Amino acid sequence: MEYRPLGQTGALVSALGFGAAPLGDVYGPLDQATATKTVHLALDHGINYFDVAPYYGLGLAEERLGVALRGIRNQVFLATKCGRLGVNEFDFSAAGIQTSLEASLRRLQTDTVDLLQIHDVEFGDPNQIVEETMPALQRFKKEGKIRFTGLTGLPLGYLKDLARRTHPDTLLSYAHYNLMVDDLVEVLGSFSQEKGIALINASPLHLGILTDQGPQTWHAAPAVIQEKGRELGALCRRRGRPISEVALRFALDLNDVATTLVGMGRPNEVEANLQVLEAASDFELLEELAALVAPVKNRIWTQGKPENNY
Ligand code: NAD
Repeated sequence: MEYRPLGQTGALVSALGFGAAPLGDVYGPLDQATATKTVHLALDHGINYFDVAPYYGLGLAEERLGVALRGIRNQVFLATKCGRLGVNEFDFSAAGIQTSLEASLRRLQTDTVDLLQIHDVEFGDPNQIVEETMPALQRFKKEGKIRFTGLTGLPLGYLKDLARRTHPDTLLSYAHYNLMVDDLVEVLGSFSQEKGIALINASPLHLGILTDQGPQTWHAAPAVIQEKGRELGALCRRRGRPISEVALRFALDLNDVATTLVGMGRPNEVEANLQVLEAASDFELLEELAALVAPVKNRIWTQGKPENNY
């Protein structure tokens, strides 16, 4: 496993990171035994970065991860989030995120998380995040409840502006660097480097669009993007390569990020994704895929407050 510095935090994290959203049954039902096996297999093979949130299964993903990490918590870099509590439920107030962090610590069965990220900042009022939410995170840092602070969100320009005003240790962007969308580095690459902020790329499989099983019904992408995903999958199948493998390899080749987070809920997914680390890119196939994607390239859905979508 390759390890990379997480910005200026001093932490070294695996280039392939564990996205724990599937542990909250977000991508279909699981059980604790399967979740535990999946987490242990990842850890045994050198994956040391685990990303979770209270939102994933409304506490379930944290709870399952906490059980799986019992006794081995110190072997991982544990990142969770605050501010987003449900599909339409947000609380970015200092009191709200304190309550949320305490619940996360209980579910994760730990006294401290390595990284606390303000989750999906485009749903928040930027002034509140600057004046109230981030200062509360800084207090948690002083109290030893968290080691580092981060922001996560979808619209890149807003994420960048908010990072300028809040000075987080990390920025997590998702669905902005994969086979269909690739503007992450253009918008946040040199900025994050200049500021010493670690960049994290999540959802290399476009939240399920770039898999043979396809996305869940909750996926927010317009039909034309979902249909394009099916076309890309069919092309990969004709070339004898699963789309998930091709898509993950493409994302892993991006060196500007500290880690690439892929959601994994089952041991066979961990095994397949570990194999991709060793696989070579098929540049001919990538060219064919790029030509097919062209009409919808960099088209993305929006969410959160309209004024924050830029
Ligand atoms: P993803 O693009 O990583 O896709 C996940 C889907 O792909 C799941 O259905 C998973 O079971 C499947 N999968 C994984 N490996 C596979 C394989 N080898 N073959 C076939 N299917 C495979 O989407 P994601 O999980 O949403 O994103 C990754 C992680 O990033 C999340 O779990 C979460 O931790 C984080 N994330 C954070 C935010 C945020 O903070 N706003 C948003 C999105 C994702």
